[in-house]
Amino acid sequence: MNSAEFRKKGRDMVDYIANYLEQIESRQVFPDVEPGYLRPMIPDSAPEEGETYEDIMKDVERVIMPGVTHWHSPYFFAYFPTASSYPAMLADMLCGAIGCIGFTWASSPACTELETVMLDWLGKLIGLPEQFLAGSKGEGGGVIQGTASEATLMALLAARTKVTRRLQAENPELSEAEIVSRMVAYSSDQAHSSVERAGLISGVRMKKIPSDENFVLCGEAVKKALEKDRAEGLIPVFVCATLGTTPSCSFDNLMELGPICNTENIWLHVDAAYAGSAFICPEFRYLMKGVEFADSFNFNPHKWLLVNFDCSAFWVKKRSDLIGAFKIDPVYLQYDQQESGLVTDYRHWQIPLGRRFRSLKLWFVLRMYGVKGLQDYIRKGSNTLNKALLQKINDLKKIHLVPCCLGDKFILRFAVCARTVESNHVVFAWKHIEALATGLLMEEAEKK
Ligand code: PLP
Repeated sequence: MNSAEFRKKGRDMVDYIANYLEQIESRQVFPDVEPGYLRPMIPDSAPEEGETYEDIMKDVERVIMPGVTHWHSPYFFAYFPTASSYPAMLADMLCGAIGCIGFTWASSPACTELETVMLDWLGKLIGLPEQFLAGSKGEGGGVIQGTASEATLMALLAARTKVTRRLQAENPELSEAEIVSRMVAYSSDQAHSSVERAGLISGVRMKKIPSDENFVLCGEAVKKALEKDRAEGLIPVFVCATLGTTPSCSFDNLMELGPICNTENIWLHVDAAYAGSAFICPEFRYLMKGVEFADSFNFNPHKWLLVNFDCSAFWVKKRSDLIGAFKIDPVYLQYDQQESGLVTDYRHWQIPLGRRFRSLKLWFVLRMYGVKGLQDYIRKGSNTLNKALLQKINDLKKIHLVPCCLGDKFILRFAVCARTVESNHVVFAWKHIEALATGLLMEEAEKK
């Protein structure tokens, strides 16, 4: 394909994508196919001669689409959200075109530098403490990982190396294997399976601590586990707290866990994979109270912040903990400015060497939506809508409510007032409010 053909097919592909997303509602959200459906639909081996783009696109509809689960269908309510927006898709096209592999600063300076600044932008946007930011002189900093699973694994591996080195400095006779075999890491019983997997991959045993009746991991339970394990000669190294657990979106108690981890010299990693995007709205930040005690923090803009997969933002308070843990310097990756102290080489911050120019999509999304646009997307509601709902409720006169203002939010108050109120009256009121709210949201959607 030459550039003239690319221009034409590129336009066709943009049309195909726009049509797909515009009409996605008409496709069945979950496919009918059975396992193994695809193999008989295409040849046994790759074609000897090249085929036409048109033939391939025909097969996209014939072979691929029947087996697609449409994650961006408005009828998809499974797993968790995965973000998507046109600005991010455009940026991904550019990323593909530039096609650089930004493992060191020198391998593509813009790729590295934009990522560092974007992670500072994003960190500020969610209210992360200053220590997590790179700034111009900070000790912290952020990096884009592919997934939250990799972020947790990186944090655990860094903690493992840090403790191993400390203990070996104090007791030179101890072998690494001996130390690691006594290490123990913790999460709540509500943590994502990727946390348990990080334990399996790193060789550090991962213990699940029971959460409380609200599915929250609290300080007392962790303290108990630490005391027991220390008494048995184990070495606690890592706690993974979750803000927004996968089963119920519960939030572990960082205000209790943080001081314990800091006092006991245990790495505290915060996994806010899904819920972290909400912290761009100041009114949700009470849920991350205590984050200042953490050593590392992660959330996925690719879940809820309109940046297409993959974009998992990971910050550390001390970037030397990561860089120091995984540094290897072959001659072919060295370059002149390496020792200037002014460059970041992201290859030390991640498991693979190669990395895409993923910060482009973050940059496009942050600029095209702006903070206000992103906050509106998370809030998906407004004082105007709330006022309109109250107006509808009170116009119909089946129930009667009055509003109040909490800060700058217009709130509908529901007070149980009369002596004669029974639960059936409350249920009736709830259903009535719900029906009116749904109607209002549908009217809004039609206007857009
Ligand atoms: N952590 C939490 C709390 C999650 O909800 C999820 C996915 O839903 C993950 C981790 C794993 O995310 P990823 O696919 O980015 O590894």
